[in-house]
Amino acid sequence: MTTQARRIQLRENLNRTRQAIGSACAAAGRDPGSVRLVVVTKHFPASDAAALAELGQADLGENRDQEAAPKAAELAALGLEPVWHFVGQLQRNKARSVAGYADWVHSVDRAPLADALDRAATAHGRTVNALIQVSLDGDVSRGGTPVGGLEALAEHLAGTASLRPKGVMAVAPLGWEPAKAFALLAECSEVVRRVDSGATEVSAGMSNDFAAAVDAGATMVRLGRNVLGEREPMT
Ligand SMILES: *Cc1c(COP(=O)(O)O)cnc(C)c1O
Repeated sequence: MTTQARRIQLRENLNRTRQAIGSACAAAGRDPGSVRLVVVTKHFPASDAAALAELGQADLGENRDQEAAPKAAELAALGLEPVWHFVGQLQRNKARSVAGYADWVHSVDRAPLADALDRAATAHGRTVNALIQVSLDGDVSRGGTPVGGLEALAEHLAGTASLRPKGVMAVAPLGWEPAKAFALLAECSEVVRRVDSGATEVSAGMSNDFAAAVDAGATMVRLGRNVLGEREPMT
């Protein structure tokens, strides 16, 4: 596919996706401006991310530092500075790199990681918006803090210097009804807001379940395939 054809395809997909979010908002009786679209560009080339940024898509997401860091650098070299959202499981030893380009980290799920990100953000002279990832089914191998650990982690985040606690994030557990998952996440959001009334963001919903997430109050949806197409299997 030529660069121009790909660009037209991305523009159409983006418009269709924005309309679908608008419809989900209308069905839920919500203002479409209350849901932020983060397009997850993982597994797709920097040229796609650049095209999306040029099409006015302000928020882009990635889930692995090894891929995200060079992509962010490539776009910056083109003079493109989208708002980067890091949405994947994160190891402490990557915190320094991630805090260098990510404006948001959706996957803060333990105090030592929060501390590593905080030190890294401070060293970079930046502040990073942090969401607490919740493991709704308690299977922490897929990332996230168990529901019972939310309050303590929210309190911990509130004490950091360079992280701004912004809310919660989750992925619907395998085999769960999305509506059930996102209703539980809405309760988790309340727990965190009791600690920090400003932490109102709820990052929930992927390509196959974002309407249910919007219905349950998501303020950020993270969509990849809806905009970019199916990903090649992981290499
Ligand atoms: C890949 C990914 C997404 C986007 O998933 P799609 O099914 O492509 O919409 C959202 N959130 C996280 C954490 C991801 O890793």
